[in-house]
Parts: sequence; structure tokens; C-alpha cells
Amino acid sequence: MGFCGVPGHEFVGTVTDGPKHLEGKRVVGEINFSCERCEFCHRDLRRHCAARKVMGILDADGVFAEYVAVPVANLHLVPEKLADEEAVFTEPLAAAFEILEQVQLEPGDEVLVLGDGKLGLLCAQALKLTGADVTVVGKHAEKLKLLKRSLIRTALLDEWKVRQFDFVVEATGSADGFQLAMGAVRPRGTLILKSTVASKHHVPLAPLVINEITVLGSRCGPFAPALEALEKRMVSVLPLIEKEYALSQGLDAVAHAGRSGARKILLRP
Ligand SMILES: [Zn+2]
Repeated sequence: MGFCGVPGHEFVGTVTDGPKHLEGKRVVGEINFSCERCEFCHRDLRRHCAARKVMGILDADGVFAEYVAVPVANLHLVPEKLADEEAVFTEPLAAAFEILEQVQLEPGDEVLVLGDGKLGLLCAQALKLTGADVTVVGKHAEKLKLLKRSLIRTALLDEWKVRQFDFVVEATGSADGFQLAMGAVRPRGTLILKSTVASKHHVPLAPLVINEITVLGSRCGPFAPALEALEKRMVSVLPLIEKEYALSQGLDAVAHAGRSGARKILLRP
């Protein structure tokens, strides 16, 4: 987005200044700051507000800081039993739950999640809650292993024999992943694009037409079901954390997060 400012949009914090009923309370916050005036806001599509600011991404400072200003309407109270290290996953987990706002999964539906990054692992766990038959294909054995206890099938990309699924979630963030995802959707199936492939690339779209594939873009999601899933321990997030740094070591933390295959790096102001 060409953003210049304080980055960071996944956080848990304590309210130090705001409405009395929130002061001293732990909160997480939705990252799209909506205008409440435009057509999309009036249609209850605030995450698509035409004039939105996005924390740490577009026109609003983010959370790699000791203090951050967030609209009260965006805040959600964190249940006491949740550790900071769990609550901080609310935002990306909400993005995973967005898929369930967009498609109806039935028990037994065959779902493929391509990509074993943080978002892929969260999507797989959220989708599994529907009773769907979920498979994750990725490149990192140690990350796939994190799903072992969740009854989610896993396969290494190199060893995986391509087959077709009713729903395919593309969470690799690569053009190759997109191409692979297209080939793994059954005719009349649904392809859900969860990663924004930032680089320019060419993908032939004819297979989508021929196989009558539904393509869904999917971005930020609802916080309430994500918080509930965390509170009820329906998903497991702590194993996704690799290391925690003090904010004063922020540059080291960002460098660490940029290493290939790194799990979640946390900053504590
Ligand atoms: Zn608006």
C-alpha cells in the first residue's frame, strides 16, 4: 500500500484513555477504521468503507508502539482467561473466519488449504470446526506437524499427489500457489483467495470458465467468532509463536520475522 508510518495491526492492549467502562480493560481491535457516512458503511459493510483508514497499512498508525489510538467501535473485550499471547491472534484468526461468512461448509466437504504459513494454519483450523474434511499442503514439515492433534490431514508439497477438492483456499502468497490452487478445484467448486499475490503475474483464466469455478476474494473478518474460538480453545495458536522481543529490539524482531519459514514473532512494548 506504499504505507509510511508506524506498522503493525495485530495486537492486544490495555485501554489507558477512553470511555470509563473500558479503562483498564484488555482489548483487541478491528483494523479498518470506517467513516460511518459512505454507502458501504450504511450497508453494514464497514470493512469495505470507501474512505477507510487501516491500522498500520493505510493512513493510520499501527501498533509497533507503546500507545495506539483506535476507534472505540472497533474494540472487543478480551476474556480474562486468554493470555496476551493467545489474544494477539484474534485479528488473523478473524481473517480465517471470514471464509465461513462467505461460504457454507458442510461436514464431509473436501477442503484443501494451500500454504502452511500462519494464515494457512489458522484457516485450516477455523474451517475444520465445520466438520469439513480439511487437508493442508505446504512446504514445511515442522509447521504441518503443528496440526497433528487437530485431525487435519497434511501433506508436503513435494510428496503430494494433486487431486481435486470442493473448496480450495489459496494461502501461499505466491503466483505458483495460485496456479496450483486453480488446478485443485473440482468443476463447480470454489476457489478462495486468502493471500494477496502482490507481484505481477500472468495466470490463464480459461480453466475457471471451463470448469465453472467460483472465485472468492477474502480479507478481514469478524472478531466475535475468533475470540470465542480462542476462549473455548477450539483452535491452537500458542505453537505458532516463535519468539517474543521487546519493542526496543523491534528491528531485530522484524529481521527475524522476515526469515524464510519463521513463525509468529511478537513485540512487547
Ligand atoms: Zn464509510
